[in-house]
Amino acid sequence: MVTHMLEFLQRIVQEVNEATDLERALDIIVHRVKQFIAADVCSVYLNDFEHMEHVLMATDGLRPEAIGKVRVPMKRGLIGLISERAEPLNLEEVVDHPQYLPSHETGEIGYHGFSGVPIIQYRQVLGVLVVRRREPRRFTDQDVTCLITLAAQLAGAITHARASGELALLQGKRNLSNRFFEGRAASGGIAIGNILVVYPPADLASVPDHPALDPESEEANFRNSLAQASADLETLAERMAGWLSSEELALFDAWRLMLQGGSLIEKTVRRIYEGNWAQGALRETVHEHAQIFESMEDPYLRERAKDIKDLGTRILMHLQDNAQAPLTYHNQTILAGEDLSPLQLAEVPRDKLIGVVSTTGSKSSHIAILASGMGVPAVMGVTNLPLGRMDGLEAILDGHRGRIYVMPAPSVLSEYQRLADADRALETTLGVLRGHPSSTIDGHALPLYLNTGLISETRPMGIEEASGVGLYRTELPFMIRDRFPSEEIQAAEYRQVLTAFYPRPVTLRTLDIGGDKYLPYFPIRESNPFLGWRGIRISLDQPELFLTQIRAIMRAALELNNARILLPMISVLEEVDEAKRHIDRAYKELIEEGHAVTMPPLGAMVEVPAIAYQIKALARKVDFLSIGTNDLTQYLLAVDRNNRVVAGLYDDLHPTVLRALNQIVTGAIAESVEVSVCGEMAGNPMATVLLMGMGVNSLSMSAGSLLPVKAVVRAFTLTQAKALLETALILDSAAQVRSLLKDALRDEGLGLLVRDANKNTDNNRSL
Ligand code: PEP
Ligand code: MG
Repeated sequence: MVTHMLEFLQRIVQEVNEATDLERALDIIVHRVKQFIAADVCSVYLNDFEHMEHVLMATDGLRPEAIGKVRVPMKRGLIGLISERAEPLNLEEVVDHPQYLPSHETGEIGYHGFSGVPIIQYRQVLGVLVVRRREPRRFTDQDVTCLITLAAQLAGAITHARASGELALLQGKRNLSNRFFEGRAASGGIAIGNILVVYPPADLASVPDHPALDPESEEANFRNSLAQASADLETLAERMAGWLSSEELALFDAWRLMLQGGSLIEKTVRRIYEGNWAQGALRETVHEHAQIFESMEDPYLRERAKDIKDLGTRILMHLQDNAQAPLTYHNQTILAGEDLSPLQLAEVPRDKLIGVVSTTGSKSSHIAILASGMGVPAVMGVTNLPLGRMDGLEAILDGHRGRIYVMPAPSVLSEYQRLADADRALETTLGVLRGHPSSTIDGHALPLYLNTGLISETRPMGIEEASGVGLYRTELPFMIRDRFPSEEIQAAEYRQVLTAFYPRPVTLRTLDIGGDKYLPYFPIRESNPFLGWRGIRISLDQPELFLTQIRAIMRAALELNNARILLPMISVLEEVDEAKRHIDRAYKELIEEGHAVTMPPLGAMVEVPAIAYQIKALARKVDFLSIGTNDLTQYLLAVDRNNRVVAGLYDDLHPTVLRALNQIVTGAIAESVEVSVCGEMAGNPMATVLLMGMGVNSLSMSAGSLLPVKAVVRAFTLTQAKALLETALILDSAAQVRSLLKDALRDEGLGLLVRDANKNTDNNRSL
């Protein structure tokens, strides 16, 4: 039964996930569930929040004419009860239930046994899945748990299919939408432009639709790829001849036959002439073929679905290799993808990239940090975004509230143009602060530094404003290459930033890979990467990498002497001792080799809670400390910084985080060691006053935050900041801290600096 159930679950979830619209998805659900449970009826009711009704959306067993027509006011009837209580209901005789509201339109009279379970996603009841039977008999507990399991898994697929279908409808009628997709605000600002979907190569399922500009050449490319795939198979079959059974070899022949003619080819070509490009047409055809096999009862035939997909992937690889046209970027490109990499970001010409949207990740994901470093609005974790249907469409990206509007209605567009103008006006207002010192009303200086990592431009943003670089993430240049960069390449890269900022200090953090920072040429497979092989742990285990990097830093700083070295992810004191031994060795070797290098100051990141409790001992070992609030918050609160499902819990204004920070800063001050903050919190104008009150020596942030943060520094006295901190430290929740800080900023006339991310304040609906 268990395998049976699991197999059933896997199949149905996969089929529903692949459905292109809601109607199809729900049809699959009702047919399959009815069969599996051996019910006489299976139906799905969805909640229409706009009209406050439960709507019959699909049924197998009741009257099909009732679909979409039968609407029950919310909270009424058994559907209302299940939905409201978010609890299953299992009845022997439905008629006996006091809240039963019979519907004659559906033809449900005559069915007696009834069971319904809520369909819930992230605390919200989306609808109800119902089965009925003729006899007055309860469904078994096993049936009910099966329905609950299914409903839990299907909620996401239903939301996705709904969004995808709505978008398809919208594509027919241009500019009609005031709906939006919701994610997490990750980098402020508003972008109005066209979407460019990027996707991993050789991944058939993620290929987007795209208009076929020249169907003949798309067809030619497709036929070419078929021939190439066929040649591959021939070579493979020859190579494997001695190893495979005749049955398996026959499969190769079957594949080759499919590549020579038949419906796979015909249907793809037809789709090309209907307007889709070869890759999109292939995806659709392969999907259609695979589905036929997947719906078969015979497990052997079902397995063949995988073969079809493999074959499709092979053709796709050739199609992608043959596609000559390089990616064309819109003048105003909003880059969209599932799991964007720094390389994909770096490939967009800088003057064309205006926004970034990703279906995964959150504000503290590295791709978001990169976007914010480039001053580009970003929205992360938009789980329901139907990427396959979005390429080229007009969109508005609202990086303040974490929304994306696709093909917006003219009224939405003009509202956003107004907001973008307001943003520009704010920038101009803040512009007057350029060149003015970052110090409090009572004269305490709080220097502001820059976080960076990809300096391809000679004049990085914020270069005039910043007192130096507080965090240069050296892993970023590693991430956009296909191998470890040599000492020379690294030295040249570091020299560029050291020269650009000279004589101001530049803090180069040693390689901090692992976690969500992945090098394609150094794969690390772990089930728990944020608690695994990361940062300094890798550097100490692979001393050849560490020594090369340290040597490159020291050589880059020759005669400039403005480099500082920062060690990431320190969790035990011995790591600092060991790193120092390597650094001393690199220094001595360079001197012996005749390079007149100097020893840069050494700092440690404080981003692991364990070391925060040993802060004084750590401070005694280094020249400076830098607090990484991004990781510190994720470890203190046990909330993955990349996981959008729990992103609502990730909050660096949580009183616990504030108390930890205060303890760290107090410890550093007691040891007279300089302490700064370089996590995203340092760039949040709301947090500035608290960090100032703690007594941090400096803050390091993305370029776009320099002026807003400076505005806050200049609006308060240190005494005021200390008083606010004292109040914040005894509050119970992040929400209370936030409201205290908002009020404080508003009182100083800085209300415009605090925008409410992810808060629905208008009547438009999230898809
Ligand atoms: C941090 O963790 O706060 C930090 C600055 O480092 P990163 O975001 O690169 O992990
Ligand atoms: Mg970190």
